[in-house]
Amino acid sequence: MNKPQMWQPEIETLSRAEINELQNERLRETVSHIFKNAPIQRAKLEAASLTPGDIQTTDDLVKVPFTVKNDFRDSYPFGMFAVPQREIVRLQGTSGTTGKPTIAGYTRRDMVTWADLIARLATAVGVTDEDIAQISFGYGLFTGGFGLHQGMERIGVTVLPMSSGNTERQLMMMQDIGTTVLIATPSYALYISEMAHEAGIKDKLKLRVGLFGGEGCTPEMRAKIEENLGITATNNYGMCELIGPGLSGECFERDGLHIAEDHFFPEIIDPDTGKRLPYGQQGELVVTTLTKEGLPLLRYRTRDITCLYTEPCTCGRTHIRMAPTRGRSDDMLIIKGVNVFPSQIESVLIGMPHIGPHYLLLVRREGVSDTLEIKVELTDSSVLEKYSELEKIQQRIKDKLRVILGLNVKVSLVAPKTIERFQGKAKRVVDLRS
Ligand code: ZN
Repeated sequence: MNKPQMWQPEIETLSRAEINELQNERLRETVSHIFKNAPIQRAKLEAASLTPGDIQTTDDLVKVPFTVKNDFRDSYPFGMFAVPQREIVRLQGTSGTTGKPTIAGYTRRDMVTWADLIARLATAVGVTDEDIAQISFGYGLFTGGFGLHQGMERIGVTVLPMSSGNTERQLMMMQDIGTTVLIATPSYALYISEMAHEAGIKDKLKLRVGLFGGEGCTPEMRAKIEENLGITATNNYGMCELIGPGLSGECFERDGLHIAEDHFFPEIIDPDTGKRLPYGQQGELVVTTLTKEGLPLLRYRTRDITCLYTEPCTCGRTHIRMAPTRGRSDDMLIIKGVNVFPSQIESVLIGMPHIGPHYLLLVRREGVSDTLEIKVELTDSSVLEKYSELEKIQQRIKDKLRVILGLNVKVSLVAPKTIERFQGKAKRVVDLRS
């Protein structure tokens, strides 16, 4: 692979001082825009006795109340917007599992920014106008499909908008068209990669790069996808409320995701106390938008757990990096007082012999005590007939999980292909306590 280029090198290599100055200037513009044009957000600032003059630099943000998902629910559908509806050219939303979706609106300028941010992260991993990208994200309200689509077109990539689902057809097109870039959630990419592996078509594929986002991806999951498809898999990150994918993405070094600091100011907070934490410490990511017109937000709580690090990256980009998200603080289970992320369990399972990457967590309450059961799929049903082998596998998983989680877990091994597959974001937890 040729060394990847930069999409906007003059911005991606700004010095720290230049970034800070740009952020402060854009923050003041954003605050002024909100005071003038976003009455619900303005009321929240006034309730905290804040005027625009109180928020001059990113340091001043610690005084500002957080914006949370409930603010969207309370002002559904357009209450958080800061421009009249005629200036909005696109609506996207979260795929909320219950109730109403969260609606995000974009102006023409927001759409240009969004496309550039996708072009930035794709260029950073070597995608060029020579590539053919198969977009296997669902199109629709979910920001993944359309978000990546417009960014790929901006680079000049040939785009195949497959959307998610119908995996056999995905694989057929991948071979016929000669797809070189696969774009999907990691869980769907894993599923596609398993099907490709089973069909023995790896050598017929021209795939070289994967752009994965929409949910976290453990290193083990990434390795499995790379092995099955013969690609370099890369992670990107975003959130509908803030813009969608494009907020951050890995460069070819794949050592953290560069955050687009000219458009966003990131902070890490302690999710319990709300206090800002220093760089390097793990906590919840909170993001302030710096250039959004349609939906500017101050201190939006993402619920994603990560940390930020400022060490220079060998790729030459100066923008701060975030660690791959460890899991949403929403997804975090508390079992017998222990914090458990599904990603921790996944990292134990992937790579174990006879074990596939598919699992389901069942949390129950028995009396006053919580129990965790993990259903794990075997790769080979013949193992189910060998009891001693089954017991050995179960014990190995239990032992590893006890070390990592400090919990005793019930492990059930089930036949191949009996756990539901996901074509969008995976749902791996069933909490029966509530
Ligand atoms: Zn880098």
